[in-house]
Amino acid sequence: MQQIDTLIHARWIIPVEPAGTVYEHYSLAIHDGRILDLLPSSQAQKQYTSSNTLMLDEHALLPGLINTHTHAAMSLFRGLADDLPLMDWLNNHIWPAETAWVNSDFVHDGTQLAIAEMLRGGTTCFNDMYFFPDEVARLAASSGIRAAVGLILIDFPTAWATDADEYLSKGLAIQDSYRNHPLVSTVFAPHAPYTVSDVPLQKIQVLAEELDLQIHIHLHETRDEVQQSEQQQHCRPIERLEKLGLLSPRLLAVHMTQLNDEEIEKIALTGTHVVHCPESNLKLASGFCPVQQLNQAGVNVALGTDGAASNNDLDMFGEMRSAALLAKAVAGDASAIPAETALRMATLNGAKALGIDGTTGSLQIGKAADIIAVQLNDIEDQPIYNPISHIVYACSRHKVSDVWVAGKHLLKNRSLTTLDEQGIIETAKDWRERIKKRDEPKN
Ligand SMILES: [Zn+2]
Repeated sequence: MQQIDTLIHARWIIPVEPAGTVYEHYSLAIHDGRILDLLPSSQAQKQYTSSNTLMLDEHALLPGLINTHTHAAMSLFRGLADDLPLMDWLNNHIWPAETAWVNSDFVHDGTQLAIAEMLRGGTTCFNDMYFFPDEVARLAASSGIRAAVGLILIDFPTAWATDADEYLSKGLAIQDSYRNHPLVSTVFAPHAPYTVSDVPLQKIQVLAEELDLQIHIHLHETRDEVQQSEQQQHCRPIERLEKLGLLSPRLLAVHMTQLNDEEIEKIALTGTHVVHCPESNLKLASGFCPVQQLNQAGVNVALGTDGAASNNDLDMFGEMRSAALLAKAVAGDASAIPAETALRMATLNGAKALGIDGTTGSLQIGKAADIIAVQLNDIEDQPIYNPISHIVYACSRHKVSDVWVAGKHLLKNRSLTTLDEQGIIETAKDWRERIKKRDEPKN
């Protein structure tokens, strides 16, 4: 008998690789933060012993979900301005609120709230884009969640940096200090083609090659964005990024609701990844990402929630379901994005886009033990023919009972082990009071 750190016996294990596989009465052996073995429970009981053995006989184990695009700290703006189109929402509500409130305390408290929400909903890794990424990196490391921390760059000054050079140098300092961190990686995060000019985009392209980093940008989010670029730059944003050498397997293009056939081909040929945020696109009426067409062209499509100000939750279960349903409506084809594809988009495809699929994204021997357990024993779960179908079409994030990242048990029977839930709730309420007071009309 081999002594190991953790042994989990489960009713079902959905490894995501091989595609569509569901193992029944299987076990996961975890040691030193990694998946040591994946085998039938009857065998596991003979082969392994652990003082930390869990019997999850009403649960499905699956890889932790990867939220491949978010602005975590914006959870403090959840519900602050709803039901507005993107440019009105950004120019008249979000950017003024950010100017008034965003500092390192805001980012600390908002990101902590977001990490708690994400862990409780089965998200074990997030790709962030926000100011004060140093706070995001510190919090990810201390809470134990995996994160790709965006080194943000935007042409205008904010409380974080004054110009492109300062955004870059501050970002590079963070990259340097987390270079070998087991949980925190860094990704360049120029905000969007309409907020970042050519020179900094070129610098990022060169640095990304040198440092072997991914680049994360909002792209073709709305028709207005594309039209404005056609008028001012005399080309579409994708064309401009192509000229700057940015279309490549390093690029994560977020949203992509405005695409012609030629652009889809270009995205596929260059190996550019697409991050689909269905609920944010629906809420801001930004348009529809042609996910089925991208899929058929061979493009790697991952899923993200976007920030909680435009969603308004960080719920990857909701995102999987919305992505699957929306893809069918957009393609006029009920077979578009089946449940197992939606699950792959929320796990392995995100890991691929972030360049960390050797570490996470599926339950494979040797990968990090980034695992979630979904309890399927309630009225609303019955009967169960196919647990993958339930995960995508029938159950909610509230069914996530346990979460491990790199073998560390971060959510234990729905309680967070590294974060103070009550303290986080109180802090969010305090921010609400301060933000509300400023927004009230003065007389
Ligand atoms: Zn976004």
